[in-house]
Amino acid sequence: MIRRYSPDLNKLFCQLAKTCPVQMVVDVVPPQGSVVRATAIYKKSEHVAEVVRRCPHHERTPDGDNLAPAGHLIRVEGNQRANYREDNITLRHSVFVPYEAPQLGAEWTTVLLNYMCNSSCMGGMNRRPILTIVTLETQEGQLLGRRSFEVRVCACPGRDRKTEEGNFKKDQETKTMAKTTTGTKRSLVKEPSSATSRPEGSKKAKGSSSDEEIFTLQVRGRERYEILKKLNDSLELSEVVPASDAEKYRQKFMTKNKKENRESSEPKLGKKLMVKDEGRSDSD
Ligand SMILES: [Zn+2]
Repeated sequence: MIRRYSPDLNKLFCQLAKTCPVQMVVDVVPPQGSVVRATAIYKKSEHVAEVVRRCPHHERTPDGDNLAPAGHLIRVEGNQRANYREDNITLRHSVFVPYEAPQLGAEWTTVLLNYMCNSSCMGGMNRRPILTIVTLETQEGQLLGRRSFEVRVCACPGRDRKTEEGNFKKDQETKTMAKTTTGTKRSLVKEPSSATSRPEGSKKAKGSSSDEEIFTLQVRGRERYEILKKLNDSLELSEVVPASDAEKYRQKFMTKNKKENRESSEPKLGKKLMVKDEGRSDSD
């Protein structure tokens, strides 16, 4: 079976409405009542304030899930305790399920996600890349762990993965060359306006030095400002929580393909998270 998750890109390639198992490993059992939440956001800063929702066509198409509101892109499959939310302030959609300890003999907890639109859907994602943010939260909403990965929902995930990985490698080579050459031919740094959203997937490529840089963003309208502020607050929080609660919640937190799980289980802070092949071979 072709792997659908690309570790290089930190990106999942999947088909509409197919099962995407996300696997999670925690080193310390989270408190009773903790939940695992999945939220989709747009990756690019110019779209990040917009709520990710299904396109009008798919929203109108009956597809037999009585639990999930028709407009929600992400669903949890096969879990009657799945809870769908629309945030009061940001209006963002999310779905959460109670955290369950791994089955006896298993190392991880699996949550099955479905994406109910294609990335290309007109009037929906409209070819704009999205991230899925998976958080582990206490019952009171305290953040215990967070991890994100990019998602592309398309007809040919295997082919697209190959293409994008090829482009990524070329890009890396170009960057390496540019560093060693004086008089860079083209600018490899994105315009400053894109600095508000800094998905984890890009950290590796850009290096960590720029992560501490402070950017100022001018926002038109209070409502937008509140949305962006909330987003920024939660990003800040996600960095603070592991530090203050590090001893309590020393968790592994990685996005991984199941098959690569064993090769790279070096100890790390945070929750460990893997995205497995689609397919229902072990959906129990
Ligand atoms: Zn759609």
